[in-house]
Amino acid sequence: MNPSEMALSYPLGTSLPAWGGSLELAPGVRWLRMALPFALDHINLWLLRDELDGRAGWTVVDCCVDRPEAREQWEAVIAQELQGLPVLRVLATHMHPDHLGLAHWLCERFDAPLWISLGDYQTGRLASAHQDSFGGPDTAEFFVLHGVQERAVLDEVAARSSYYASMVPRVPSRYTRLLDGQVLHIGGHPWRCISGYGHSPEHMAFYCEAPALAQPILISGDMVLPRISTNISVYQMEPEGNPLQLFLDSLDKFTPLPAGTLVLPSHGRPFIGLHERMGQLRNHHADRLAEVIAACQDKPHSAADIVPLMFKRELDVHQTTFAVGEALAHLHLLWFQGRLARQRDADGVMRFAAAGGAPHR
Ligand SMILES: [Zn+2]
Repeated sequence: MNPSEMALSYPLGTSLPAWGGSLELAPGVRWLRMALPFALDHINLWLLRDELDGRAGWTVVDCCVDRPEAREQWEAVIAQELQGLPVLRVLATHMHPDHLGLAHWLCERFDAPLWISLGDYQTGRLASAHQDSFGGPDTAEFFVLHGVQERAVLDEVAARSSYYASMVPRVPSRYTRLLDGQVLHIGGHPWRCISGYGHSPEHMAFYCEAPALAQPILISGDMVLPRISTNISVYQMEPEGNPLQLFLDSLDKFTPLPAGTLVLPSHGRPFIGLHERMGQLRNHHADRLAEVIAACQDKPHSAADIVPLMFKRELDVHQTTFAVGEALAHLHLLWFQGRLARQRDADGVMRFAAAGGAPHR
């Protein structure tokens, strides 16, 4: 554990649910852990005991990617963990493949509806239907604009086709819209939706402080993770975005929650210490922003120039694509604040230099 992880407390100690098994965290709230075929090797899903339209069953929060191994893990869960009851509805925190991939399969199998925000539903459906989502020649061009020169990275990005659809082949054709502040009645308890921006178009976290749960619970999705910092990237589809500012502003919405809230993150272990962790995340980004400003004071930097300053380890091609988006998210926040100005140089690359000007917008 790194020092910042040690500042949090983990009420379950080191216990983890077995693959395809679950652990009860509070009455009617169960933790499922599924393996992922990436560097980030697992995702947490949640089972909430529920009753809908007079039927007893489960509300499932998030789904895992659509891969044969994930379906196998779900088969074990369905056989052993659902107490013979059906899935009544599928809630998705957001549209990323590890969260939404198997929603179509679960919804069809149980004739259950998908509940998700409008922003993430539309983006997920679009991404699943289009070959060039998160890759293709336009994305490669965007990387060139931001200073990427490595042929291996550009070739892989340009050739990447149907990347999202390989993990999310379909998104259900109907959905129930989740809105910020909306209260869902799950198992007789009120769960409040808290929207968040910057990581996905319209991420939803779910908060409940029903006395029967013994302590307040926040299903934080990817907005607050205990060990890694949430990926915040500028993407080719929204090249002028300011996602890091949106993310930091969204964190403020969790500040009023009680200190003893048990946080259920999508990756890592359930923890207590929400405010401590938000402080760590704010400091993490403030440190990165200070490094970026200092570098741009010396000479103009492109996003690709920032990558090795921000990520002091060897990155593979896949990690490099995330790193460029993250570097750009930091540059854009400072550019929007007027602390950096950008210029497109004669070589066609966008570079950012320190400025004392007025905010960009
Ligand atoms: Zn995500």
